[in-house]
Formats: sequence, C-alpha cells, structure tokens
Amino acid sequence: MSVAVSRRSFLRGSGLAAAGALLPSAGTAAAAARPAPAPAAPVMLNFNECPLGPSPAAQEAVRAILPSSGRYQFGLRGELAAEFAAQNALPVDHVAVHAGSSDPLDRAALAFTSPRRAVVVPDPTFDAVADTAAAHGAPVHRIPLRADGSHDVRAMAAADPQAGLLYVCNPNNPTGSVTAHGDIAWLLANKPAGSVLLVDEAYIHYADAPSMLDQVRAGGELVVLRTFSKLYGMAGLRLGLALGRPDLLARLAAFGSNPLPVTALAAGLASLREPALVPARKRENAAVRDETIAWLAARGYPCLPSQANCFMVDVRGDGAAFARALAAEGVVVGRSWPVWPQRVRVTVGTREEMARFRDAFAQVAAAGATVASAAA
Ligand code: PLP
Repeated sequence: MSVAVSRRSFLRGSGLAAAGALLPSAGTAAAAARPAPAPAAPVMLNFNECPLGPSPAAQEAVRAILPSSGRYQFGLRGELAAEFAAQNALPVDHVAVHAGSSDPLDRAALAFTSPRRAVVVPDPTFDAVADTAAAHGAPVHRIPLRADGSHDVRAMAAADPQAGLLYVCNPNNPTGSVTAHGDIAWLLANKPAGSVLLVDEAYIHYADAPSMLDQVRAGGELVVLRTFSKLYGMAGLRLGLALGRPDLLARLAAFGSNPLPVTALAAGLASLREPALVPARKRENAAVRDETIAWLAARGYPCLPSQANCFMVDVRGDGAAFARALAAEGVVVGRSWPVWPQRVRVTVGTREEMARFRDAFAQVAAAGATVASAAA
C-alpha cells in the first residue's frame, strides 16, 4: 500500500511548518503580526515508555536526595536490593542492582555466549541480546513466535545443542504477547546442558502472567531481569535488577561495577514502597490498550493479544511507510521487524495521546485507501 502524505503534514513532519510560521506571508500586516499557533508537540509512542513518568512519591524522593547527591551513598544500592528481596521472598544475595536492564542484558550476552556457544532468541523480540552476542562473534538462532505470539519453547530447546544462552521475553517486546509459565519452566528443564536461561520481565508488571521468580527461588539455572523503565516510568533515571543464583550473578558482575545514580535508587525505593502503584497503572494501561486494539480491529487492522504497554498492528501494507506517514501527522510510533514488515509496534500512551493516534491512523489509512483505489 502506498501512503499519501499531505503537504501540510509533510511540512509539520519536516519541521518546516514551524520555520514557515516565523516568516510573514504575503497577506496583510495584521495577519503578519498575529502570533502563529504553537504546533502541537508530537505524540511519542515509539519507545514503550510510560507516559506518566515517575510516581509523585518517586519524584519527591528524587528532589529530597538531590542536595546530598555529591556523595556516592553506596548503602542505597543494598537497601534497594534488600527491599526487593523481602517483597519477593528472595535471599538478598540473589538480587543485583544495575542501571536499567540493558546493562545486564549485555553482560549476559558477553558472559554466556561465544563464537562456539550460540544465543537462541524468539523472533520478533527485543534485539539487545542478539545484537551484543553477534557483535562478539556468537551465532544467533532466531525462532519464530507461534501463531498466538508465544515462544516456541520446543523449537528453542532444539535449536542448538551448543547454545550458551536462551532468551525469553515475557511479555514479549514488540508483541506484548505472553508465554505460559509451564512452557518457560519446560524450557528451563530441557535446555541444552550448560546453557543459561535469561528471562526478561521488563513488562511483567502490566501482565497477568506469573513471574519466573519462583524458579530463581528454586535455584534454577536462570537469570530474571526487571526494569524500572516501563511501568515505574523511570526510563531516563536508569534502574534495573538481575535476579538469580549468586554464582550466575557473579558471571555478570565480572564485567565491572559502576556506582548507581542516587536519584534512581531513591526513586526506585519510593516506587517499591508504594503498593498501589503497580495495580493502578496496570489497570489504566490495560483499559486504554484494549480500547485501542478493539478500535483497530473494528476497522480491519488486527493485533496479536497484548498484555504489555505496546502492541503490533498489521497495517496491511508497508509498515515503515505507514509509520512515516503517522509521524508526519504528529504521531511517532515504533518500528517494524524484518520478519513482519507489515506490522508496526505502537506504545500505549495516555487516553488523550491514543485519541490523537486514532485520528492520525484514520487519516493515514484513508489516504492509503484513496491512493490504492486510484491505482487499481
Ligand atoms: N528489555 C526489554 C524487553 C525492553 O523492551 C527494554 C527497553 O525497551 C529493555 C529491556 C531495556 O530497558 P532499560 O535498559 O531501560 O531497562
């Protein structure tokens, strides 16, 4: 499908509209003197961020610690680990605190893969592990998701007897689809000898799916990752956790240590100590997400069922071109994956943002339909 881009939207998308607004037109002096309306800020639905940002309590904690942030305050890291451990019935030595989950994802790729020990990933998924593993010479086996969006755990287990690392993302990015606890536990029990299972639970707070932390408690050969970048709204503050047996966490720690921002630790502690935060944000995200997916489905644009703050919509044409046309309408969505060029990832924003998404989507879809029928 080709997508028409209007001159108005092209100008807005290219930033030329704002520049043009500064120049007096050939109209009257009064028109030239009238201030141009400020262009609406684009709606950013591209990085699976939480549009609400840190909770009010987390923001207050950041303000409160700022005057003393001239000091490392090493004890805060242990305090956060102890809080998470107590809340999740884990020994505290099973909790490692990092600056987000990208850092332990990279460390896991470096620790558990090599040119002789491959990584096995679902396809499509979050690319960090596969990219880092490939960059230092490890083979990458991409196993297509099943039709319902779940991981094909049997194909993953069988992919390579020499695999060093198996990556599970639950719920999965970009689809938001979940894999049953029993399937992931089966993979843990049947993975190649000597390999490690990495379960990325960046979006678990949004989902009804159970965590794999029970398998960490049971001493399994897996590492579970959590982040404060998603539901907790702290992507720019940088805080995440790696959860696993001390011998596995030591393999990640071998790549060096870095003091953490005290602002992030303070905000993370405040977030963990606010029990109403997760259910409230989870409920609101689910309502807005499900409403948007239903709206799309009613117009013939299907999505896989999602339990995260993102979903993939089938735009029935070139996904990248569709996303560019949406951006030109002031709504920036995520990308397509090579395995699914007709689908585009969309982050769930606020109700107001998703209303703008629907308007832009309807315009781009109608323009595409007009061009398609004119060409037919
Ligand atoms: N894991 C998944 C599945 C993600 O989608 C992301 C970010 O989008 C990350 C990890 C990395 O997040 P961060 O480094 O901000 O914790």
